[in-house]
Amino acid sequence: MPAKPPASKARAPGKNGKNGKKTRSPGPLPIPAASDRRRFRQRLLAWYGRHGRDLPWRNTSDPYHILVSEIMLQQTQVDRVLPKYAEWLDKYPSFDALAVAPEADVTATWYPLGYNIRPRRLQMIAREAVSRYGGQLPADEATLLSFKGIGAYTAGAIRSFAFQQRAAILDTNVARVLFRVFVGGGDHKSHAMKRHLWKVSESLVPVRHVFDFNQALMDLGATVCVARQPKCPACPMAKGCRSFPPSGLSG
Ligand code: SF4
Repeated sequence: MPAKPPASKARAPGKNGKNGKKTRSPGPLPIPAASDRRRFRQRLLAWYGRHGRDLPWRNTSDPYHILVSEIMLQQTQVDRVLPKYAEWLDKYPSFDALAVAPEADVTATWYPLGYNIRPRRLQMIAREAVSRYGGQLPADEATLLSFKGIGAYTAGAIRSFAFQQRAAILDTNVARVLFRVFVGGGDHKSHAMKRHLWKVSESLVPVRHVFDFNQALMDLGATVCVARQPKCPACPMAKGCRSFPPSGLSG
């Protein structure tokens, strides 16, 4: 089962247009056609085979290692995470080791990554995993989401990377790619758009190669379809992308 998008809210009523008349809200955005989804998967996986980055958390399916990398990568560049990821796993090689570590040590070890709520959350997850699940992370979505500190994105990442489940992901980079390729216009920051992009991400998850596919989505957003000055000429999605050629792209 793909990851659930955030709960739906009622669509906002149409705004008043000229002469005070109500304008109609645009209908729901369409999910890409099957042929477009297939083409997107093929191009993305082919591009990833040639250009994907070799990162240590891509050579493991250990749920703890995946979780550590995902929490560290929140708001933090890969090159800053790399040395800390190795140091962290050396010092706390398992949920059990992290669960019993003194909190001051955990915070000190995290330095200088910042956003110090993250090591505390990581240790809370470790303690819950030890006390309730024998030092393991459960694989099902509902139980993962019951952990404080694990949201829809992180649950999707753990399920697809650690448990090879057909789970979607949507972080800032992935949302930007999917918005530009399949939508191209409208308010890319609205809740309605986020819900739509979750659905698009779910519709794209392949039956096989889920790990590579989701990693590739993140790589494309981090290295090619970047927020400012995307590298469209080098992008495998340029043909068919609704934002190509770019003009005043943001996001
Ligand atoms: S063509 Fe440009 S805007 Fe479209 S996905 Fe590629 S980099 Fe992003």
